[in-house]
Amino acid sequence: MIYTQDKVNLHTHSFYCIHGTGRISEYVSEAEKAGLQVLGFSEHVPLPDREYRKGDRMTYPELPFYEKDVLEARRTSGMQILLGMECDWLPDEASYYRDELAGSRGYDFLIGAVHHMPNPATGVEKYLGRIADLPVKTLLDYVDIYNAGIASGLFLFCAHPDLVFAAYRDWDSNAVSASRDIIRCAKQYDMPLEINGYGLVKPPVETPQGPRPMYPVRRFWEMALEEGVRVVANSDAHRPEDVGRTMLGAMSFAASMGIKLCSYEIDLNSKTRVKVL
Ligand SMILES: [Zn+2]
Ligand SMILES: [Zn+2]
Repeated sequence: MIYTQDKVNLHTHSFYCIHGTGRISEYVSEAEKAGLQVLGFSEHVPLPDREYRKGDRMTYPELPFYEKDVLEARRTSGMQILLGMECDWLPDEASYYRDELAGSRGYDFLIGAVHHMPNPATGVEKYLGRIADLPVKTLLDYVDIYNAGIASGLFLFCAHPDLVFAAYRDWDSNAVSASRDIIRCAKQYDMPLEINGYGLVKPPVETPQGPRPMYPVRRFWEMALEEGVRVVANSDAHRPEDVGRTMLGAMSFAASMGIKLCSYEIDLNSKTRVKVL
């Protein structure tokens, strides 16, 4: 069945990630109220072989509980519910993502993302939304990592490519060329990029060009539009009540720029299950 973007949100968290609140079933109720027909859950990925980013995601032994809750929602709700995961791009984990999550565990889709880069003050990895002065070198490293995620071919789409501009705030020639590199890579691999509505409900950031939302970043998406890359929009809700409003925010952002959003073909009995059209 084909769904237009206004009926689909494939980026949803829950209490399972610790920095989110609300049960899976509460997100389903809110999504129903918001008029969505397809809701995909995409928790932050835990790793089997090491504790990764402890405290901002479920642990690996909790995976079956998350899966059970999502599949229970699929059985009991009137919506199309999809089981997914938001995967930080870690090359060593590619086979875990492909063979276990998308393979034996039967996930319907995986999202690619890069959330953390070394904090210039300490050298220790930190969430990009909490860094204000990312050096150019780290911006370039982000582009390399993000683009390797795109090129892996494991993901249905790649999330919030412009999150890095929460940390690298000046819209200078480095920002322009970093954006162009990501957008051209997405175009080359025909990988959809995500306008993420969650950044619109976070505190705005100060930049040399004045205050702006943490993300999505207009200048980035102007370039994406120009290049003709495929674009999806998602809520990235971390609270049940955010499903509708951040989805609407992401959709309005796209509409205000004249960006045409993709549709989806969903057939859970087919091999590909979910396809971005
Ligand atoms: Zn999160
Ligand atoms: Zn994310």
